[in-house]
Amino acid sequence: MLMKTCPYCQNASFSSTTLGGPWLCPSCGEDITHTPVEAPHRPVQTGEAANGKNPFDSVRKFFRKLIKAGS
Ligand SMILES: [Zn+2]
Repeated sequence: MLMKTCPYCQNASFSSTTLGGPWLCPSCGEDITHTPVEAPHRPVQTGEAANGKNPFDSVRKFFRKLIKAGS
């Protein structure tokens, strides 16, 4: 199962078959073929993730802040 988060409407889009072909957002119909694929249970290490654009990364930072504030 592959997942992408649409950058246009922020809705999650799931697919298991369209890798390599055009990937259109089912919610807004925009072409999100070049949006990085996310793995729901295991974040993919991509250049995008390294740039802090991965949503999992901001969640991690958020909890790190909470832990710091509590200690
Ligand atoms: Zn969309």
